[in-house]
Amino acid sequence: LVPGSGLRIRNLRVGYGPVQALRGVSLEAPSGSVVAVLGANGAGKSTLLRAVSGTLRFHRGAVTAGEIEYAGRPLSRLSAAAVVARGVTQVPEGRRVFTRMTVAENLRAGALGGRGRKETAAARRRVLELFPVLAERAGQRAGLLSGGEQQMLAIGRALMARPSVLLLDEPTLGLAPLMAARIADTVREINAQGTTVLLVEQNAAMALSLASHAYVLEVGEVVMSGPADELAASDEVRRRYLGEI
Ligand code: ATP
Repeated sequence: LVPGSGLRIRNLRVGYGPVQALRGVSLEAPSGSVVAVLGANGAGKSTLLRAVSGTLRFHRGAVTAGEIEYAGRPLSRLSAAAVVARGVTQVPEGRRVFTRMTVAENLRAGALGGRGRKETAAARRRVLELFPVLAERAGQRAGLLSGGEQQMLAIGRALMARPSVLLLDEPTLGLAPLMAARIADTVREINAQGTTVLLVEQNAAMALSLASHAYVLEVGEVVMSGPADELAASDEVRRRYLGEI
């Protein structure tokens, strides 16, 4: 891991008008890592990803203080498109695929404009190797896919931009356990191929099994952080997020 080469968030404050959603959050995802963000509904997890991806403004939110850096350069003032061009891509919560478009069209929409055909073809090959079902369904409307397949498509579409950092918002939400486990395996595989992953998950057990480090958010603040195995062993985390004890 090269110091300073990953994603770095310092003292981030975000508001939606008068609502303070993040109150000074600091977090690091070193290059090549999987870092998990846990927390109850409304803790600010999605807000954190939106701030990084530059999509906050689509939700009427704004960064009011702090810094977001990737590879030593600031991201905080960039448009969503510019953030993607820098190598950071978000898979939004709720697997928002274009339901009336085909699977192939959805993937094409994720490719960066201005990239060569060869690069796009290579990105597509990688996505279809990760998710062979998307090749089988290439000509089908995305709205006809199952929930799990739509999640695969949402991840695949994000990978078409060949990101160095993937921001994943609740990728297993609402999926049956078997499908959730498959998504988890793919996240592991994507990371093994060299992509840094910042993972927001309600399934704390799964997130902690994937991540090297984790952060727990409560009402806009980091209340706990550390190596994932240490958090998984902590009584507090086991009681509050793993449903044990
Ligand atoms: P969830 O899992 O429910 O999405 P979360 O941890 O991702 O929860 P956020 O969605 O980031 O939490 O929300 C953090 C806080 O910001 C909450 O108090 C929420 O009500 C508020 N919030 C989120 N989006 C908006 C918005 N567009 N306008 C106003 N307030 C918002």
